[in-house]
Amino acid sequence: MFQKILIANRGEIALRIVRACREMGIASVAVHSTADADAMHVRMADESVCIGPPQGQQSYLLTPAVISACEITGAEAIHPGYGFLSENASFAQVVEDHDLAFIGPTAEHIRMMGDKITAKETMRALGVPCVPGSDGEVPTLEDAQKMGAEIGYPVIVKATAGGGGRGMKLAKTAEEMEQAFLSARSEAKAAFGNDAVYLEKYLGNPRHIEIQVFGDGKGNAIHLGERDCSLQRRHQKVFEEAPSPVIDAQTRATIGKTCADAVARINYAGAGTIEFLYEDGEFYFIEMNTRLQVEHPVTEAIYGVDLVREQIRVAAGLPLSIRQEDLTPNGHAIEVRINAERLPQFIPCPGQITAFHAPGGLGVRMDSALYNGYKIPPYYDSLIAKLIVHGRDRPEALARLDRALGELIVDGVDTTVDLFPALLRAADVQSGDYSIHWLEKWLAETYES
Ligand code: ADP
Repeated sequence: MFQKILIANRGEIALRIVRACREMGIASVAVHSTADADAMHVRMADESVCIGPPQGQQSYLLTPAVISACEITGAEAIHPGYGFLSENASFAQVVEDHDLAFIGPTAEHIRMMGDKITAKETMRALGVPCVPGSDGEVPTLEDAQKMGAEIGYPVIVKATAGGGGRGMKLAKTAEEMEQAFLSARSEAKAAFGNDAVYLEKYLGNPRHIEIQVFGDGKGNAIHLGERDCSLQRRHQKVFEEAPSPVIDAQTRATIGKTCADAVARINYAGAGTIEFLYEDGEFYFIEMNTRLQVEHPVTEAIYGVDLVREQIRVAAGLPLSIRQEDLTPNGHAIEVRINAERLPQFIPCPGQITAFHAPGGLGVRMDSALYNGYKIPPYYDSLIAKLIVHGRDRPEALARLDRALGELIVDGVDTTVDLFPALLRAADVQSGDYSIHWLEKWLAETYES
C-alpha cells in the first residue's frame, strides 16, 4: 500500500480524499494555488505545496507543477478527484511515465471514453445499448442533413470531445439542422479544440440513470447499482438519488451486469460511471466518466462502501474488497448540490462566509470545505457543499433532507440552498415522477410567478 498520496484537486473533493487517506493510515499531500492558501483541504492534509497563481491553468491544471510537488514530497500516487486533470489522458500518461501511480484507469481507457464517438463504438461492441444515431463522426452539413432525415427529428448534435453540457445543440426540425450543426461545431472547437460532432436521436422524456462500476484492471468488475440524476439545469445535475424511483431489483441486476461485464472485458481499473438515458423501459448509453463522480456519496450511503478507499486499493494493485453477491442496496439516499450562486439566474457569488453551520444527526452527511470566515475565491467552480441524506426509504430521506436543510446556515454569500425546500415539496418530486426536462420547467414556473 502507498505511504503517501498527493491530491491534485481542491474544495470538498480534496477533503473527501484526505479523509479516506487518513482512515487508511496514508499520509496526504494537498496542492494549492495562492488563492487557496487558507483552504480547508490545505489545513486538513498532512502536508501542502503551493503550485502556482490562482488561475487553474497555472496551478491545478499544470502538469509539471503537480508532478514536481509529488517529487518534492515523495508522494507515490496522485488522486485527481473530479474535474481538473481527472479525465486528462496525457496527464495520466505523464504520471505513469514518472513511475507514480495514477488513482484511476489507464491513460488508454481515459482516452477511449473521453472521445464520445469511440466510447459509443466500444460500448456498442461490448453489448451496451446506445442511443440511435450516426455511427461515428458527421463531417459535413450535407451529411448531417441526410443523417438527420434518416434518424428522424428531433435530433441532437453532440461534440465527440464534449463535456459539461457544452457542444450540444438540438435540431427540432430539418430546418434547424444547419444552425445546430454549425453552432455545435464552433462551440466544440472553442471549448475543446476539436470540432468533430455526431448525431443522436433526441429523446423527448427520458430520465438520466447512471451505473456505478468498479474494475480491478485484471478482468474482474462489479457494479454498485444506479443513481438517478434526472433533475438537471442546463444539463448539469442538481439533485441526485439512489436507488432510482423507477428501477426495480431485476432491472438493476440486468443493466448492472451488462455494465460490469463490459468494463471487465476491457480490463478497466478503478471507478467508472456509465451514463444512460432511460425511456419507456429502455436504456440508452450516452457516455462513460472514468473517474469518481460528484454524486458518489449517494451510492456510498446505500451500499456502505467507501469508493475512494476502493480506488486507492485498486491503484495499489490490491483486489476489490467487495464481491457482487455481497452488495445489496439499503434504504434511500439523496444528494443536493449547493452552489455559491444567486437565484434565480444562478449567477456565481463568491465572497466571505460570515456564518456557517453544518446540519447533523442520523443519516446526514455534509461534504463541504467551508468554514466560518472562509473566503470563497472567484476562480473556480461554484459548488461549495453537498448535502447527502440517507433514510430507510424515499419518504424518510425526503423528510430528513427537509429537516437538514432547515439546520444549515451559510451566511455572507448567496447560495442555491433556498431552491431545495420548495423543490422537494413539489408533487412530482415527492412521487419521483420527473424526466430530465422537469426541473427547467419547474424553475421557470416557480421564479416567474
Ligand atoms: P456532457 O458530457 O456534456 O455532460 P452528456 O452526453 O452526458 O453530455 O449529456 C448530458 C445531458 O444532456 C444528459 O444528462 C441529458 O440531459 C442531455 N442529453 C444528452 N443526450 C441526449 C439525447 N440524445 N436526447 C435527449 N437529451 C440528451
